[in-house]
Amino acid sequence: MVLRLIRQQRKTPVLKAPSFGCLKGIPVINVTRGCPHSCVYCYARGFPEAPLRGEIHLYVNLPELLEKELGRRKRLPRWVSFSTASDPFPPIDEVLKVSYQVMEFLLRRGIGISFLTKGVIPPDFVELFARHCELVRARVGLVSLNDEYQKLFEPFAAPPFLRLANIRNLTAAGVKVSVRMDPLIPGVADSEGEIESLVKRLKVLKVKELSISALILRPSVAMQLAEELPLSLSRSILKYYQGQPWQKVITSARTKLLPASARIVRYQMIKEISARYGLACHICGCKNPDLPWESCNTGVESANGDKVEQLTLF
Ligand code: SF4
Repeated sequence: MVLRLIRQQRKTPVLKAPSFGCLKGIPVINVTRGCPHSCVYCYARGFPEAPLRGEIHLYVNLPELLEKELGRRKRLPRWVSFSTASDPFPPIDEVLKVSYQVMEFLLRRGIGISFLTKGVIPPDFVELFARHCELVRARVGLVSLNDEYQKLFEPFAAPPFLRLANIRNLTAAGVKVSVRMDPLIPGVADSEGEIESLVKRLKVLKVKELSISALILRPSVAMQLAEELPLSLSRSILKYYQGQPWQKVITSARTKLLPASARIVRYQMIKEISARYGLACHICGCKNPDLPWESCNTGVESANGDKVEQLTLF
């Protein structure tokens, strides 16, 4: 895919506070609009503001805007989360430069950062994080160790071995890393054997925490699956959701959940395997509103406690 980078000046506030889930009250920042990883299951690709496929919009004035915005605040946030509707580590130097400037700016002011990535974290970031390891909560998205899975479902994301290298490098730098196994796609890479080899590998890399969720289906995601996967594969996935009602999940009123019975069996299996290897495993509460609530962003939540702001430092 040919990627088109569009540089743009951001005009609206940089930090936005989501009003749902375990990130409630924690400001979110977006370095780009759009994400080059083009995951087939990505629901952010269907957002009305999403750019055209192959386009990524970089907010080039983000560092200066952030500085101004925080300078106006009486209190600084204790944590800032990088939006999961994009990835702060795409393989594009200009984007990485802005991500680095923003992260360094926040960390030097004592503001913690949390991010989720399926990209490659370059060495200069790892060095930066090593200097502020208590203020970094990293989540690496990884559902399968199988390269074929990645090529089909996450065509432009980093292959699994590079994501494992991220985990190794971050852990060696003293950063707390958890793994997000989301979305678990029914019937794909979700056998007990496949999950166990992944968890076993994570155990070797000293990962202590996993968060999990099954694929949630939205009309745009169903369309992407149908258009971008082999027909028999997309049909077999979509079949699991047949007859499920459209309902409000997170911010979208048009979402189908995998039937609860199918989710519970999988979650139970993964929790049991995780427990055998000594990993804590949390079900994403936002994407499973019909199950008992579990927070899946525990590092940031417990660090924030009831207070998500600190006194301004400048
Ligand atoms: S990495 Fe995340 S934001 Fe980027 S395409 Fe994949 S699911 Fe979407």
